[in-house]
Amino acid sequence: MSYALVINSGSSSIKFQIVDPAADASDDPFVSGLVEQIGEPQGRITVKYNGDKFIVQKPVPTHGVGLQETFKILDAKGIGPTQLDIVAAGHRVVHGGMVFSQPELINDQVVEMIRDLIPLAPLHNPANIDGIEVARALLPNIPHVAVFDTGFFRDLPPAAALYAINADVAEKNLIRRYGFHGTSHEFVSSQVAEMIGRDPMHTRQIVLHLGNGASASAVANGKPIDTSMGLTPLAGLVMGTRSGDIDPGIIFHLVRQGGMSIDEIDNLLNRQSGVKGLSGVNDFRELRTMIDNENTDAWLAYNVYINQLRRFIGSYMIELGRVDAITFTAGVGENDKDVRLDALDNLEMYGIKVDPEKNDLPNDGPRVISTDDSKVKVLVIPTNEELAIAQKAAAVAAQVS
Ligand code: AMP
Repeated sequence: MSYALVINSGSSSIKFQIVDPAADASDDPFVSGLVEQIGEPQGRITVKYNGDKFIVQKPVPTHGVGLQETFKILDAKGIGPTQLDIVAAGHRVVHGGMVFSQPELINDQVVEMIRDLIPLAPLHNPANIDGIEVARALLPNIPHVAVFDTGFFRDLPPAAALYAINADVAEKNLIRRYGFHGTSHEFVSSQVAEMIGRDPMHTRQIVLHLGNGASASAVANGKPIDTSMGLTPLAGLVMGTRSGDIDPGIIFHLVRQGGMSIDEIDNLLNRQSGVKGLSGVNDFRELRTMIDNENTDAWLAYNVYINQLRRFIGSYMIELGRVDAITFTAGVGENDKDVRLDALDNLEMYGIKVDPEKNDLPNDGPRVISTDDSKVKVLVIPTNEELAIAQKAAAVAAQVS
Protein backbone atom coordinates (compact mmCIF):
# COMPACT_ATOMS: atom_id res chain seq x y z
CA MET A 1 0.00 0.00 0.00
CA SER A 2 1.35 3.48 -0.78
CA TYR A 3 0.49 6.61 1.11
CA ALA A 4 0.93 10.38 1.11
CA LEU A 5 1.96 12.36 4.16
CA VAL A 6 -0.16 15.49 4.53
CA ILE A 7 1.14 18.34 6.65
CA ASN A 8 -0.83 21.40 7.70
CA SER A 9 1.52 23.51 9.74
CA GLY A 10 0.09 26.41 11.76
CA SER A 11 1.77 29.00 13.95
CA SER A 12 1.74 26.82 17.08
CA SER A 13 0.49 23.49 15.76
CA ILE A 14 1.07 20.87 13.09
CA LYS A 15 -1.80 18.69 11.84
CA PHE A 16 -0.70 15.65 9.90
CA GLN A 17 -2.14 12.58 8.22
CA ILE A 18 -0.78 9.55 6.47
CA VAL A 19 -3.43 8.71 3.95
CA ASP A 20 -3.99 6.46 0.96
CA PRO A 21 -4.62 8.89 -1.94
CA ALA A 22 -7.03 6.36 -3.46
CA ALA A 23 -9.20 6.24 -0.30
CA ASP A 24 -12.84 7.38 -0.22
CA ALA A 25 -13.54 10.81 1.25
CA SER A 26 -15.44 9.22 4.14
CA ASP A 27 -12.66 6.71 5.05
CA ASP A 28 -10.66 7.39 8.20
CA PRO A 29 -7.04 8.23 7.38
CA PHE A 30 -4.48 5.49 8.04
CA VAL A 31 -2.80 7.72 10.64
CA SER A 32 -3.71 11.21 11.82
CA GLY A 33 -2.39 13.46 14.51
CA LEU A 34 -1.77 16.84 15.97
CA VAL A 35 1.19 18.58 17.56
CA GLU A 36 -0.06 21.40 19.77
CA GLN A 37 1.28 24.30 21.80
CA ILE A 38 4.59 24.46 19.94
CA GLY A 39 6.89 26.95 21.67
CA GLU A 40 4.89 26.90 24.91
CA PRO A 41 6.00 25.41 28.22
CA GLN A 42 3.77 22.35 27.88
CA GLY A 43 3.23 20.78 24.46
CA ARG A 44 1.19 17.81 23.33
CA ILE A 45 1.40 15.26 20.53
CA THR A 46 -1.67 13.20 19.67
CA VAL A 47 -1.57 10.30 17.23
CA LYS A 48 -4.65 8.39 16.05
CA TYR A 49 -4.07 5.01 14.47
CA ASN A 50 -6.15 1.90 14.06
CA GLY A 51 -8.99 3.18 16.25
CA ASP A 52 -6.62 4.05 19.13
CA LYS A 53 -5.44 7.43 20.33
CA PHE A 54 -1.99 8.02 21.83
CA ILE A 55 -1.10 11.24 23.64
CA VAL A 56 2.39 12.36 24.65
CA GLN A 57 2.69 15.46 26.84
CA LYS A 58 6.08 17.16 26.62
CA PRO A 59 7.45 20.56 25.66
CA VAL A 60 7.71 21.01 21.90
CA PRO A 61 10.01 24.01 21.46
CA THR A 62 9.95 24.12 17.65
CA HIS A 63 8.11 22.71 14.64
CA GLY A 64 11.25 20.64 13.92
CA VAL A 65 11.16 18.98 17.34
CA GLY A 66 7.42 18.45 16.93
CA LEU A 67 7.78 16.50 13.69
CA GLN A 68 10.86 14.62 14.93
CA GLU A 69 9.05 13.49 18.09
CA THR A 70 5.98 12.56 16.07
CA PHE A 71 8.04 10.44 13.68
CA LYS A 72 9.65 8.73 16.71
CA ILE A 73 6.20 7.80 18.03
CA LEU A 74 5.17 6.52 14.61
CA ASP A 75 8.47 4.62 14.16
CA ALA A 76 7.95 2.82 17.47
CA LYS A 77 4.62 1.55 16.14
CA GLY A 78 6.17 0.51 12.82
CA ILE A 79 4.22 3.17 10.89
CA GLY A 80 6.88 5.89 10.57
CA PRO A 81 7.15 7.71 7.24
CA THR A 82 10.45 5.97 6.47
CA GLN A 83 8.94 2.56 7.27
CA LEU A 84 6.03 2.98 4.86
CA ASP A 85 5.84 3.51 1.12
CA ILE A 86 5.25 7.28 1.15
CA VAL A 87 5.01 8.58 -2.43
CA ALA A 88 4.87 12.28 -1.54
CA ALA A 89 4.42 14.82 1.22
CA GLY A 90 1.65 17.34 0.54
CA HIS A 91 1.91 20.65 2.38
CA ARG A 92 -1.06 22.94 2.81
CA VAL A 93 0.07 26.50 2.08
CA VAL A 94 -2.44 29.22 2.83
CA HIS A 95 -1.40 31.94 0.41
CA GLY A 96 -0.16 31.42 -3.13
CA GLY A 97 -0.90 35.03 -4.14
CA MET A 98 -1.10 35.55 -7.90
CA VAL A 99 1.91 33.27 -8.29
CA PHE A 100 0.54 29.78 -7.71
CA SER A 101 -2.66 28.28 -9.03
CA GLN A 102 -1.55 24.65 -9.23
CA PRO A 103 0.15 22.35 -6.72
CA GLU A 104 3.89 22.89 -6.97
CA LEU A 105 6.82 20.53 -6.51
CA ILE A 106 8.85 22.15 -3.75
CA ASN A 107 12.48 23.14 -4.24
CA ASP A 108 14.52 25.94 -2.67
CA GLN A 109 13.22 28.45 -5.20
CA VAL A 110 9.57 27.59 -4.50
CA VAL A 111 10.22 28.01 -0.75
CA GLU A 112 11.62 31.49 -1.48
CA MET A 113 8.57 32.33 -3.58
CA ILE A 114 6.26 31.28 -0.73
CA ARG A 115 8.42 33.39 1.59
CA ASP A 116 7.95 36.38 -0.71
CA LEU A 117 4.19 36.04 -0.16
CA ILE A 118 4.47 36.41 3.64
CA PRO A 119 3.17 40.03 3.57
CA LEU A 120 -0.15 38.62 2.28
CA ALA A 121 -0.42 35.99 5.04
CA PRO A 122 1.87 37.10 7.86
CA LEU A 123 0.55 34.53 10.33
CA HIS A 124 0.12 31.55 8.05
CA ASN A 125 2.83 31.41 5.39
CA PRO A 126 5.78 31.52 7.87
CA ALA A 127 4.26 28.57 9.75
CA ASN A 128 3.67 26.73 6.47
CA ILE A 129 7.32 27.32 5.51
CA ASP A 130 8.50 25.99 8.91
CA GLY A 131 6.59 22.77 8.27
CA ILE A 132 7.98 22.44 4.74
CA GLU A 133 11.60 23.02 5.78
CA VAL A 134 11.45 20.63 8.71
CA ALA A 135 9.73 17.89 6.70
CA ARG A 136 12.14 18.27 3.78
CA ALA A 137 15.10 17.91 6.15
CA LEU A 138 13.62 14.82 7.84
CA LEU A 139 12.38 13.20 4.63
CA PRO A 140 14.80 14.33 1.90
CA ASN A 141 14.13 11.40 -0.43
CA ILE A 142 10.46 11.95 -1.22
CA PRO A 143 8.89 14.68 -3.35
CA HIS A 144 7.34 17.51 -1.32
CA VAL A 145 4.42 19.34 -2.91
CA ALA A 146 2.83 22.65 -1.91
CA VAL A 147 -0.96 22.84 -2.29
CA PHE A 148 -2.33 26.36 -2.06
CA ASP A 149 -5.58 27.34 -0.33
CA THR A 150 -5.92 30.22 -2.79
CA GLY A 151 -4.95 28.20 -5.90
CA PHE A 152 -8.43 27.31 -7.17
CA PHE A 153 -9.45 30.99 -7.15
CA ARG A 154 -6.31 32.48 -8.72
CA ASP A 155 -8.02 33.21 -12.03
CA LEU A 156 -11.28 34.73 -10.79
CA PRO A 157 -12.74 37.14 -13.36
CA PRO A 158 -11.48 40.68 -12.68
CA ALA A 159 -15.02 41.93 -11.99
CA ALA A 160 -15.17 39.56 -9.00
CA ALA A 161 -11.52 39.80 -7.98
CA LEU A 162 -11.01 43.56 -7.87
CA TYR A 163 -12.09 45.82 -5.03
CA ALA A 164 -13.35 49.27 -5.95
CA ILE A 165 -10.52 51.10 -4.23
CA ASN A 166 -7.84 53.28 -5.77
CA ALA A 167 -6.18 51.10 -8.40
CA ASP A 168 -2.61 52.32 -7.72
CA VAL A 169 -2.92 51.69 -3.98
CA ALA A 170 -4.45 48.28 -4.62
CA GLU A 171 -1.73 47.28 -7.08
CA LYS A 172 1.11 48.50 -4.86
CA ASN A 173 -0.24 46.55 -1.89
CA LEU A 174 -1.35 43.46 -3.86
CA ILE A 175 -4.93 44.04 -2.72
CA ARG A 176 -7.52 41.89 -4.50
CA ARG A 177 -9.84 38.99 -3.75
CA TYR A 178 -7.75 35.82 -3.48
CA GLY A 179 -10.29 33.46 -1.88
CA PHE A 180 -9.50 30.59 0.50
CA HIS A 181 -10.70 27.02 1.21
CA GLY A 182 -9.91 26.50 -2.50
CA THR A 183 -8.91 22.86 -2.03
CA SER A 184 -12.31 22.13 -0.49
CA HIS A 185 -14.33 24.11 -3.07
CA GLU A 186 -12.50 22.32 -5.89
CA PHE A 187 -12.80 18.87 -4.26
CA VAL A 188 -16.53 19.27 -3.62
CA SER A 189 -17.50 21.07 -6.84
CA SER A 190 -15.66 18.49 -8.95
CA GLN A 191 -17.93 15.71 -7.62
CA VAL A 192 -21.23 17.47 -8.26
CA ALA A 193 -21.65 17.06 -12.03
CA GLU A 194 -21.35 13.28 -11.90
CA MET A 195 -23.73 13.06 -8.92
CA ILE A 196 -26.46 14.94 -10.76
CA GLY A 197 -25.74 13.38 -14.15
CA ARG A 198 -24.49 16.50 -15.92
CA ASP A 199 -21.48 17.30 -18.06
CA PRO A 200 -18.96 19.08 -15.74
CA MET A 201 -18.31 21.61 -18.51
CA HIS A 202 -21.99 22.56 -18.44
CA THR A 203 -22.61 22.67 -14.71
CA ARG A 204 -23.24 25.88 -12.83
CA GLN A 205 -23.17 25.58 -9.08
CA ILE A 206 -22.84 27.14 -5.65
CA VAL A 207 -20.67 25.51 -2.97
CA LEU A 208 -21.22 26.42 0.67
CA HIS A 209 -18.27 25.40 2.84
CA LEU A 210 -19.71 25.90 6.32
CA GLY A 211 -17.22 24.90 9.00
CA ASN A 212 -15.71 26.93 11.80
CA GLY A 213 -14.40 29.06 8.95
CA ALA A 214 -17.01 29.45 6.23
CA SER A 215 -16.99 30.46 2.58
CA ALA A 216 -19.19 30.30 -0.50
CA SER A 217 -18.22 29.99 -4.13
CA ALA A 218 -19.95 30.23 -7.49
CA VAL A 219 -18.49 27.78 -10.01
CA ALA A 220 -19.38 27.77 -13.69
CA ASN A 221 -18.24 24.88 -15.90
CA GLY A 222 -15.41 23.87 -13.55
CA LYS A 223 -14.08 27.40 -12.95
CA PRO A 224 -14.87 29.62 -9.98
CA ILE A 225 -16.41 32.95 -10.93
CA ASP A 226 -16.76 34.36 -7.42
CA THR A 227 -16.04 33.54 -3.79
CA SER A 228 -16.84 35.11 -0.46
CA MET A 229 -13.41 35.28 1.19
CA GLY A 230 -11.20 38.10 0.02
CA LEU A 231 -7.70 39.44 0.59
CA THR A 232 -7.90 37.50 3.84
CA PRO A 233 -10.11 34.70 5.21
CA LEU A 234 -11.97 37.26 7.34
CA ALA A 235 -14.38 38.29 4.58
CA GLY A 236 -17.77 37.00 3.53
CA LEU A 237 -20.03 34.73 5.55
CA VAL A 238 -20.55 34.94 9.30
CA MET A 239 -18.25 32.29 10.81
CA GLY A 240 -17.60 30.63 14.17
CA THR A 241 -15.46 33.48 15.49
CA ARG A 242 -14.96 35.73 12.42
CA SER A 243 -17.30 38.56 11.52
CA GLY A 244 -17.40 38.03 7.77
CA ASP A 245 -18.25 41.15 5.74
CA ILE A 246 -18.77 44.30 7.77
CA ASP A 247 -18.89 47.97 6.88
CA PRO A 248 -15.16 48.92 6.68
CA GLY A 249 -16.13 52.18 8.38
CA ILE A 250 -16.59 50.19 11.59
CA ILE A 251 -12.82 49.86 11.83
CA PHE A 252 -12.25 53.64 11.68
CA HIS A 253 -15.04 54.11 14.19
CA LEU A 254 -13.46 51.60 16.60
CA VAL A 255 -10.09 53.38 16.29
CA ARG A 256 -11.44 56.92 16.61
CA GLN A 257 -14.36 56.49 19.00
CA GLY A 258 -13.59 53.13 20.63
CA GLY A 259 -9.89 53.85 21.25
CA MET A 260 -8.92 50.40 20.02
CA SER A 261 -5.60 49.52 18.41
CA ILE A 262 -5.30 47.74 15.07
CA ASP A 263 -4.18 44.55 16.84
CA GLU A 264 -7.18 44.70 19.17
CA ILE A 265 -9.55 45.12 16.23
CA ASP A 266 -7.81 42.29 14.36
CA ASN A 267 -8.38 40.05 17.39
CA LEU A 268 -11.96 41.27 17.79
CA LEU A 269 -12.96 40.58 14.19
CA ASN A 270 -11.06 37.30 13.78
CA ARG A 271 -11.49 35.68 17.19
CA GLN A 272 -14.26 37.37 19.19
CA SER A 273 -16.90 37.95 16.54
CA GLY A 274 -19.13 35.84 14.30
CA VAL A 275 -21.50 33.43 16.04
CA LYS A 276 -19.28 33.56 19.13
CA GLY A 277 -19.40 37.33 19.31
CA LEU A 278 -23.19 37.31 19.26
CA SER A 279 -23.91 34.24 21.40
CA GLY A 280 -20.78 33.38 23.41
CA VAL A 281 -20.20 30.04 21.63
CA ASN A 282 -18.71 29.23 18.24
CA ASP A 283 -19.63 25.55 17.98
CA PHE A 284 -22.95 24.96 16.22
CA ARG A 285 -23.78 21.98 18.43
CA GLU A 286 -23.65 24.24 21.50
CA LEU A 287 -25.50 26.99 19.63
CA ARG A 288 -28.26 24.52 18.74
CA THR A 289 -28.60 23.41 22.40
CA MET A 290 -28.86 27.05 23.47
CA ILE A 291 -31.52 27.71 20.82
CA ASP A 292 -33.44 24.64 22.02
CA ASN A 293 -33.27 26.16 25.51
CA GLU A 294 -34.75 29.40 24.15
CA ASN A 295 -31.62 31.47 24.58
CA THR A 296 -32.38 34.69 22.66
CA ASP A 297 -28.73 35.61 21.96
CA ALA A 298 -28.19 32.21 20.34
CA TRP A 299 -31.37 32.63 18.27
CA LEU A 300 -30.26 36.07 17.13
CA ALA A 301 -26.76 34.84 16.23
CA TYR A 302 -28.31 32.02 14.21
CA ASN A 303 -30.56 34.42 12.33
CA VAL A 304 -27.69 36.77 11.50
CA TYR A 305 -25.69 33.75 10.27
CA ILE A 306 -28.54 32.48 8.08
CA ASN A 307 -29.39 35.93 6.75
CA GLN A 308 -25.82 36.50 5.58
CA LEU A 309 -25.68 33.03 4.04
CA ARG A 310 -28.88 33.70 2.08
CA ARG A 311 -27.48 37.04 0.86
CA PHE A 312 -24.54 35.22 -0.70
CA ILE A 313 -26.67 32.42 -2.14
CA GLY A 314 -28.94 35.02 -3.72
CA SER A 315 -26.14 37.06 -5.22
CA TYR A 316 -24.40 33.98 -6.63
CA MET A 317 -27.67 32.80 -8.20
CA ILE A 318 -27.83 36.10 -10.07
CA GLU A 319 -24.15 35.97 -11.02
CA LEU A 320 -24.49 32.42 -12.34
CA GLY A 321 -27.78 33.04 -14.13
CA ARG A 322 -28.70 29.37 -14.20
CA VAL A 323 -27.92 27.21 -11.18
CA ASP A 324 -27.82 23.43 -11.46
CA ALA A 325 -26.71 22.60 -7.92
CA ILE A 326 -26.18 24.02 -4.46
CA THR A 327 -23.92 21.92 -2.23
CA PHE A 328 -23.34 22.03 1.52
CA THR A 329 -20.06 20.85 2.99
CA ALA A 330 -17.77 21.04 6.10
CA GLY A 331 -18.71 20.56 9.77
CA VAL A 332 -21.87 22.68 9.88
CA GLY A 333 -22.94 22.11 6.26
CA GLU A 334 -22.59 18.33 6.53
CA ASN A 335 -24.18 17.93 9.94
CA ASP A 336 -26.65 20.70 10.74
CA LYS A 337 -29.87 19.90 8.89
CA ASP A 338 -31.63 23.04 10.13
CA VAL A 339 -28.95 25.28 8.63
CA ARG A 340 -29.55 23.60 5.26
CA LEU A 341 -33.32 23.95 5.52
CA ASP A 342 -33.23 27.56 6.69
CA ALA A 343 -30.59 28.61 4.15
CA LEU A 344 -32.86 27.48 1.30
CA ASP A 345 -36.27 28.05 2.88
CA ASN A 346 -39.02 29.48 0.71
CA LEU A 347 -37.06 29.51 -2.56
CA GLU A 348 -39.49 27.33 -4.53
CA MET A 349 -40.06 30.12 -7.02
CA TYR A 350 -36.35 29.88 -7.90
CA GLY A 351 -36.63 26.12 -8.47
CA ILE A 352 -35.08 25.15 -5.12
CA LYS A 353 -36.93 22.54 -3.05
CA VAL A 354 -35.22 20.69 -0.21
CA ASP A 355 -36.85 17.35 0.66
CA PRO A 356 -37.17 17.43 4.48
CA GLU A 357 -37.02 13.64 4.75
CA LYS A 358 -33.87 13.30 2.67
CA ASN A 359 -32.40 16.24 4.57
CA ASP A 360 -33.07 14.46 7.88
CA LEU A 361 -31.10 11.34 6.97
CA PRO A 362 -27.91 11.00 9.04
CA ASN A 363 -24.62 12.24 7.62
CA ASP A 364 -23.60 9.39 5.40
CA GLY A 365 -21.46 10.34 2.43
CA PRO A 366 -22.35 12.37 -0.65
CA ARG A 367 -26.10 12.66 -1.20
CA VAL A 368 -28.85 14.65 -2.94
CA ILE A 369 -31.35 16.23 -0.51
CA SER A 370 -33.62 18.07 -2.94
CA THR A 371 -36.98 16.76 -4.13
CA ASP A 372 -37.07 14.88 -7.43
CA ASP A 373 -38.81 17.83 -9.10
CA SER A 374 -36.43 20.49 -7.72
CA LYS A 375 -34.88 22.25 -10.73
CA VAL A 376 -31.83 23.12 -8.67
CA LYS A 377 -30.34 20.00 -7.09
CA VAL A 378 -29.31 20.42 -3.47
CA LEU A 379 -26.50 18.18 -2.23
CA VAL A 380 -24.43 17.39 0.81
CA ILE A 381 -20.89 16.31 -0.04
CA PRO A 382 -18.41 15.71 2.79
CA THR A 383 -15.21 17.60 2.20
CA ASN A 384 -11.84 16.11 2.94
CA GLU A 385 -9.09 18.65 2.40
CA GLU A 386 -6.36 16.29 3.58
CA LEU A 387 -7.38 13.62 1.08
CA ALA A 388 -7.54 16.25 -1.67
CA ILE A 389 -4.01 17.43 -0.76
CA ALA A 390 -2.82 13.79 -0.71
CA GLN A 391 -4.30 13.21 -4.18
CA LYS A 392 -2.73 16.36 -5.59
CA ALA A 393 0.66 15.61 -4.02
CA ALA A 394 0.61 12.04 -5.33
CA ALA A 395 -0.33 13.27 -8.82
CA VAL A 396 2.59 15.73 -8.90
CA ALA A 397 4.93 13.03 -7.57
CA ALA A 398 3.80 10.64 -10.32
CA GLN A 399 4.68 13.24 -12.94
CA VAL A 400 8.24 13.69 -11.69
CA SER A 401 9.09 10.06 -10.93
P1 AMP B 1 -14.91 22.26 10.37
O1 AMP B 1 -14.25 23.60 10.45
O2 AMP B 1 -15.35 21.87 8.99
O3 AMP B 1 -14.13 21.17 11.06
O4 AMP B 1 -16.28 22.40 11.20
C1 AMP B 1 -16.24 22.52 12.60
C2 AMP B 1 -17.59 22.99 13.08
O5 AMP B 1 -18.63 22.13 12.58
C3 AMP B 1 -17.75 22.93 14.58
O6 AMP B 1 -17.23 24.06 15.20
C4 AMP B 1 -19.24 22.85 14.72
O7 AMP B 1 -19.74 24.17 14.73
C5 AMP B 1 -19.72 22.18 13.46
N1 AMP B 1 -20.21 20.82 13.69
C6 AMP B 1 -19.49 19.68 13.77
N2 AMP B 1 -20.32 18.64 14.00
C7 AMP B 1 -21.57 19.11 14.06
C8 AMP B 1 -22.88 18.54 14.27
N3 AMP B 1 -23.04 17.23 14.45
N4 AMP B 1 -23.94 19.38 14.25
C9 AMP B 1 -23.78 20.70 14.05
N5 AMP B 1 -22.60 21.29 13.86
C10 AMP B 1 -21.50 20.52 13.86
